[in-house]
Amino acid sequence: MNVPELFGENVFNLKVMQERLPKEVFRSLKKTIDEGRLLDAKIAGIVANAMKDWAVEKGATHYTHWFQPMTGITAEKHDSFISPTKDGQVIMEFSGKELVVGETDASSFPNGGMRATFEARGYTAWDPTSFAFIKDGTLCIPTAFFSYSGEVLDKKTPLLKSMAALNQQALRILRLFGNTSAKRVFPTVGAEQEYFLIDRKMYDARRDLVFTGRTLFGAKPPKGQEMEDHYFGPIKKRVSDFMRDLDVELWRLGILSKTKHNEVAPSQHELAPIYTVTNVASDQNQLMMETMKKVAGKHGLYCLLHEKPFAGVNGSGKHNNWSMCTDTGINLFDPGNTPAENGQFILFLVAVIKAVDEYQDLLRLSVASAGNDHRLGGNEAPPAIVSMYIGDELAEVIDALEKDVQYKGKGKGVIKLGVDTFPELPKDTSDRNRTSPFAFTGNKFEFRMLGSTFSIAGPNIMINSIVADELRQFADELESAKDFNVALHDLVARTIREHKRILFNGNNYTEEWAKEAKKRGLLNLKSCADALPHFADRKNIEMFERMRVFTEREVRSRMEIMLENYSKVLTIEALTMIEMGRKLIYPAVNGYITELCQAAESKERLGISAQSDRELILKLSTDNTRLYEKAAEIEKLLAESKNVCGAEKVARYFADKILPVMQDMRAYADEMEVNTDKKYWPFPTYGDILFSVS
Ligand code: ADP
Ligand code: MG
Repeated sequence: MNVPELFGENVFNLKVMQERLPKEVFRSLKKTIDEGRLLDAKIAGIVANAMKDWAVEKGATHYTHWFQPMTGITAEKHDSFISPTKDGQVIMEFSGKELVVGETDASSFPNGGMRATFEARGYTAWDPTSFAFIKDGTLCIPTAFFSYSGEVLDKKTPLLKSMAALNQQALRILRLFGNTSAKRVFPTVGAEQEYFLIDRKMYDARRDLVFTGRTLFGAKPPKGQEMEDHYFGPIKKRVSDFMRDLDVELWRLGILSKTKHNEVAPSQHELAPIYTVTNVASDQNQLMMETMKKVAGKHGLYCLLHEKPFAGVNGSGKHNNWSMCTDTGINLFDPGNTPAENGQFILFLVAVIKAVDEYQDLLRLSVASAGNDHRLGGNEAPPAIVSMYIGDELAEVIDALEKDVQYKGKGKGVIKLGVDTFPELPKDTSDRNRTSPFAFTGNKFEFRMLGSTFSIAGPNIMINSIVADELRQFADELESAKDFNVALHDLVARTIREHKRILFNGNNYTEEWAKEAKKRGLLNLKSCADALPHFADRKNIEMFERMRVFTEREVRSRMEIMLENYSKVLTIEALTMIEMGRKLIYPAVNGYITELCQAAESKERLGISAQSDRELILKLSTDNTRLYEKAAEIEKLLAESKNVCGAEKVARYFADKILPVMQDMRAYADEMEVNTDKKYWPFPTYGDILFSVS
């Protein structure tokens, strides 16, 4: 296998563009890409034609504007390239207009009440900074999706806007430090992706997995993850075959798939790509998840991307590694070793500290979903309390700057930012604190609260926007300062003083931290229903409007969509539980009870004690009756939920009223599972599923 040759072969990338486009057209397109602007209409036709020729040579027959509506997955509508000729034949055609904008029906995508069906038109526009690619015989053009009146209907557009805001404000800071060469600053992201791989037959046999992506019933198996023998363990043949195929597919799509290993839970694995520009990383993560499912299918496997497919077993997350980089190749979170670099690094660092503190709510709600509610705070993922880890060495520097005291190990008085150098900080990226939601890991931040199914666009919109807004305030203050170094020092010390409560280097999983965090006044938004309504808090709307990322209307519509999504997911889960309870579990247990009754009768006829049978019959009958009653109770509550008004109240109703009854119902089923003859149990158990792949 020649990896360099195969890498990116399905991507219309710079190399292909250079080969296939006239020089001036290539230069103009390259400029568009570098500056993140819209495509020049004059060259669109030529680019479209070259793209089509390339795609057709590779066997493509269709094209699609590939976009990311608020459903969290990608959407595509395929059009073929064919165009009729006078003699009844067809030729393959693709115009500049077709490349640049597409029209689609927006009314069937979630829009949070923003769109009525009578104005249903939606538009998609190519994002030239993300390359077109071929997938299953279709040329896919990554696009943004918006309405006729310009309202944003997708996750891509605000992501691009947040990147533009960050660029603008970060450049102001760089200029203050005398950097005149950087023309652009962009956020970079590497998203580590966790997933489960199970046998396809197991998946098909579980209605809960099919309908909801997670198991709604299932007793703990005798062996789970307690032996800690799966993490980084040897990879099984079937899994490694899958991983090899997956790598090849991803490389063909130009995705820098790099690291793969087994994760903590049985059947759980992780894939990490090499980081890239955020909007590309976001597109590629969507593509990666889709490819995982597709390749798994070819191996008779199923890839579960749900955050918590199995109760009592670690769920799957996604670590969003984030940093900022200049077009001249400088990572702005690399602590430098000259006074100016150190000052600049510390300023960017405290901007992030302030952002995370002031917008804990936005970071928390950007990772809120019904599935992730099962993970956060479950001793397997960070708690719902947002805090930040910066490591001991950096904590000492920060402390010295705040208090104007001597930095330990430095030996020559207090540090003056922008004047002194401080000793080189360790660039060891291995995280020494895996419990922190937002950890500085040497030259980047790792936001660890994301669930595995998430589009990374949402969380990155938040990070980019809030950091941009802090940098704006810093730039305003420093640009008007008389003495830059004095002002810088004051600003940094003040910011640390005001926001250091967000810093926590200890174990985030402990009860003591929850108490301490409360004392510090940090938010603890436990569920979606607690977190999501904060989206529309005044300070948040104002920040988004200042950064031109969302209008108030867009914030409210997005919040509505997320709240509704939560209630919809729980509705489907509840209905699936009722169905499985009534049609599968209840009759199965009854069947076993009947057999036990017959056994008891036979024994007693022979004068043998049937006490154990009688006890078991009684226990199973009682539990089965309770299961039946809980199903009826959930059904009643679901009917009543229809009378609750407003997305926020409905979500609350589901969290407070319905979810607890679902948990009760599950407990009865799980108890019966361990007491029922295996041949009666109507679907595969946790043990069957988790150890299904050999
Ligand atoms: P760990 O498992 O210790 O969290 P990994 O090495 O598996 O870390 O993953 C680190 C991720 O961070 C990779 O995807 C890597 O490409 C990414 N990364 C490294 N440097 C940067 C950076 N400057 N910006 C964004 N992401 C980065
Ligand atoms: Mg990680």
